[in-house]
Amino acid sequence: MNRKKNGAEFKTIIIGAGTAIPVINHSPACIFLKSKDITALLDLGPGTFSKLPTYGIDPLQIDTLFISHLHPDHILDLAIYFMIREYAGKKNGVPVNFIGCKGIKKFILRLKVLFPDILFSKSAMNIKEVAESDFNIGDVRVRTILTDHTRSSVAFRFDFNEKTLIYTGDCVSSNHLEKFCSNADVLISECSFPDKWVTEDHMNVQKLGTLAENAQVKTLVVTHCYPQTLKEDLEHQIKEYYSGFIHITQDGDQVNG
Ligand SMILES: [Zn+2]
Ligand SMILES: [Zn+2]
Repeated sequence: MNRKKNGAEFKTIIIGAGTAIPVINHSPACIFLKSKDITALLDLGPGTFSKLPTYGIDPLQIDTLFISHLHPDHILDLAIYFMIREYAGKKNGVPVNFIGCKGIKKFILRLKVLFPDILFSKSAMNIKEVAESDFNIGDVRVRTILTDHTRSSVAFRFDFNEKTLIYTGDCVSSNHLEKFCSNADVLISECSFPDKWVTEDHMNVQKLGTLAENAQVKTLVVTHCYPQTLKEDLEHQIKEYYSGFIHITQDGDQVNG
C-alpha cells in the first residue's frame, strides 16, 4: 500500500508527558498510538482514562496495551481499565492484547485479589510477556529490549511500512539501546534529569542527546521530565549533543510519522 497517499503511517497523542510528581500539563506516563493495524496505549499512568474523552478516544476500542514496566506512574490506571471493561455499558469492546514486561501476568492476578468485586468477566484478553522479543501485529513489526531501569523494564520499537517509532519507557542509556534506536524516525524517550545529572536508572540530557545523535534519530520526542528538569532550557541543552529535530512535550501534544 502506498502510505504516502494516505498521510501519516502512525499517529500518537502524548496523553501524559510527565512522571509521578504533579506538574501542570505533565501527567503520568501514557501515549496513544494509532496505525492501520494498532489502536493502543503505551503505558497507563494514573488519570489516563479520565483524559481520553478529551481526545475523542473510546477506551473500549483500544486493542493493545503496551506496558513498559510496573512502576505506578506507568501502570496505576490498569485497575480503572478493568472497571471500564465491566461497567461502561458496552458488551462488545474489542478483545485486548496486553504486551508487557515480565511480571504483568502476576500483576493482573494480584489486581483480581485486591479488587474481587471487579469481575473481569468482560475483559477478554491475551497477555504476552516480553523481554528481548520480535513479533508482528498485522503489518507492524514490534521489537522489545530490556532497558535496565528495572529488572524487567522494556522499550518498544514499531516498524511500520516506511516509518519507525520507538518508545523507551523509563530506561538507562546503553549501546544496546542505541543500536535498538538506530535510524528511528521518531524516538519518544524519557529524559528524567537535566544535563550531567548523576543517575543510574534514568536518562539525563547528556545521555539522551548522545544516544539520539549516535543512533541518527530524526526526531527526538522528550517526555517524563522531573520538575527540576522542566525548569531548564531543555531544547538548548539537548542541542549540545543532538543535531536532529527536538520536541519537548506536554500533555496533548501530537506526534505523527
Ligand atoms: Zn516513570
Ligand atoms: Zn519507572
